[in-house]
Parts: sequence; structure tokens; C-alpha cells
Amino acid sequence: MANADRILDLLRKQGQENGVCDDCIEVDVNVHPRQQVNQICRRLEAEGKVARRVGTCSIRNHEREKVLNFAAAAGAKPRGSLDFSKGAPNLKEQTDILSDWLSKAAETLNRVENVPRSIEPIATRVSRLRREGLISSSLADKMLHLNAFRNRVVKERNALDVIEWKLAQKYISDCQCECKGWIS
Ligand SMILES: [Zn+2]
Repeated sequence: MANADRILDLLRKQGQENGVCDDCIEVDVNVHPRQQVNQICRRLEAEGKVARRVGTCSIRNHEREKVLNFAAAAGAKPRGSLDFSKGAPNLKEQTDILSDWLSKAAETLNRVENVPRSIEPIATRVSRLRREGLISSSLADKMLHLNAFRNRVVKERNALDVIEWKLAQKYISDCQCECKGWIS
């Protein structure tokens, strides 16, 4: 069975009301890498077979909202367009905003650790600080997710679509709320 069919199969089994995040699809349908899952789901959305919106994943508890994929109702209208950039800032603006977030995140973590600087990669650092109990699990999750978004935009030059962008903005403001002394 083609990957797209296996993904649709999983989503239909969950029922139309229950969405599944890209990460759980990657694991449960066994499609790698995750970027491939994202591309297939976007295509299925354009074909009207899948709907994407933010919510709580029905497969695993991730302790935060994510972009979810839902099986579309029979007879749903195809979106008819693969232009997902509508409504989201362009690649350059996304790059600027996410790079700005990263430098503030790094500075904030310097304060948390009380060090002048660090050369540790951000993902390793966030995971370590979570293990050491210096940042909350919820904050660490959001930072790791934002960093994954940033890698996609900055390194893969693959812009976030409007729903992913909304989620990224929410995570950025959550970082300020959930981390005392966040540098903004
Ligand atoms: Zn999930």
C-alpha cells in the first residue's frame, strides 16, 4: 500500500473528530523521515482528503497542542491548491522571526544556567536542562518544537504553512509566559 493510503487508513480509523500529529504518523505508519509525512499530509489536504488544524493529538499525550491531521468528511471539497504560503509570512520573515527567537532562547538559557555563553547545540541543551530539572517539561517541548520549525525554515528553506505558523507564534509567546525572566 502506498504511504498516502496507509496514512489515510490510520486517520480514518481514528474517526473524523480525532486528529493525529505528524510525529505519531511517522511512528505508527512507519513513514520516514517526518518531512515526508508532512509533505504527504499537505498533499492530501490539497486533495480534500485530510483536514489540518491545531489541537490535542488523539494517539499520544504530548502535553501541548500540535498541528493535527484529520480524515476529511466524505465529499469534502478539495482545497485545489498546493499554495500553502497564503496567510503566513514569507520565508525571509519566518527566518528572521525564528532566528530572533533562537538568540533570545539562548540568552535566556544562559541566565537559567548562570553562564556567560554556551556552544552546546540548542536541542541538546534544552533536553539536558529538562533532565536536570532547570526548565519545565512543557517549556522544553515547545522549545524543541520551535527549533524543529526553525531548522525546517532556515536549513531546508521550507516555509511553514499558515496553521504551522500560528502554532509557532503561540509557542513563542508561551516561552515568555512559561519561563520566568525570558529575554524579550
Ligand atoms: Zn501525536
